[in-house]
Formats: sequence, structure tokens, C-alpha cells
Amino acid sequence: MNDKKLVIALTKGRILEEVLPLLETVGLSPAEDINKSRKLIFDTNLEDIQLMILRGSDVPTYVELGSADIGITGKDILMENGSDGYYEPLDLKLATCRLMTAAPVNQTTTPKRLRVASKFVNIAKNYFSGQGRQVDIIKLNGALELAPIMGLADCIVDIVDTGNTLKANGLETREHIADVSTRVIVNKAAMKIKHDRIQSLLERLSEAVSD
Ligand code: AMP
Repeated sequence: MNDKKLVIALTKGRILEEVLPLLETVGLSPAEDINKSRKLIFDTNLEDIQLMILRGSDVPTYVELGSADIGITGKDILMENGSDGYYEPLDLKLATCRLMTAAPVNQTTTPKRLRVASKFVNIAKNYFSGQGRQVDIIKLNGALELAPIMGLADCIVDIVDTGNTLKANGLETREHIADVSTRVIVNKAAMKIKHDRIQSLLERLSEAVSD
């Protein structure tokens, strides 16, 4: 762990787009335009803070292992990761969406043993086993909507915002698994060693979110 710098791991994509303006409101901005650079780590206007840009699923790993002090990522990623190796002190209430099951419109027959395609295999496993339902989980990395259309699976577990992607592919939402929003996670050792700086940032973010 770098004792001098506070390293914040951000999730690229939709979360980054919504989080950068929030960071701006608490007085933190990257030293250069993140969207115009191929760099993965950025200095900021504050000498002791650096920003790292990662895939969401790598954010918990960097934070748990201490290469980042703070991480900002979706609750879906944290649920799928399933670790308790970091603190999760703040809900930023950004990039909200839902984790849902979805199936083809008009598909009414349910096979005895459901085939479920998802990139969220742990979430899917936990959800169906929590209901005492035995399912076969098929791991995919993207374009989940294709799986039921092509007969690979009976349903999918995916993130839904407007539902337009499902609709465009002949699918509809079925069961609500969880509400998702952007969370702040903190490395456990950093919370002690860099307590004042982290606490002050958390307080400013918390105030900005509740405004
Ligand atoms: P929609 O068509 O609005 O329901 O959006 C569906 C797709 O957008 C999903 O399959 C996700 O890949 C992506 N998406 C929507 N909301 C989010 C979010 N908050 N975070 C990450 N991906 C999202």
C-alpha cells in the first residue's frame, strides 16, 4: 500500500460517467480528460489523490488486496464478488438499475430444470438456490439476450435499466432479484491507516449525494 497517496479505483463506463461529476462537486477532478486518454491511472488536482480506471469486476480485487484504498463500483459487481474483504460504507445512489430474470415474451412453459444464462453466475446460483430451485447455470460474458433466442437457455439473469434491450430482443422481465446502485468500498487496513482522509472524503460524498 502506498502510504502517501490515496488511490481510488473507478469503474469505467456508465458508472464513470456519473461518478466524475460527483467527484467534481466534492472538489476532486482528474488532471487530464480521462475520456481522451488511454492511461489507466491519473493524477488529480489534489496532490495526494490518484484515480485508477478499471473494469468493474476488478475493482473489488484491487481494493481487497490494497493496491487501491477506495473503490467505486456497482452493487451487482459486489454481490457477484461475494467477498467481505472490504468495507462498503456508502451508497452513491448513481447508475441505478435492477438485477432481474428475463425470458422470451409468451414463453409460458417452465421446464423442470431451468437453464439460466448469465455473467452473474454467483448471483444466479444464490438466487435460485435461495428459492430451493435446481437450475443449470451457463456462464456467458455478454449479449445474454441471445441465449434464450438461440435455445441455449430458458432465461437469463441480467441488469435491466429501461428494459429496451430486452424488448428489442423479444424478452421480458420476470423476477426481481435486487436493486443495484453505485457503492463506495474501502480497504480495511487503509480505513485505519488513512482514516482521516478517507473519512473526510466519505463525509463530503455523503453530503453531496443527499443534497
Ligand atoms: P436497458 O436497455 O436500459 O434495460 O439497459 C440494458 C443494458 O445496459 C444492460 O444489459 C447492461 O449491460 C447495461 N446497463 C444498464 N444499466 C446499467 C448500470 N447501471 N450499470 C452497468 N450496466 C448497465
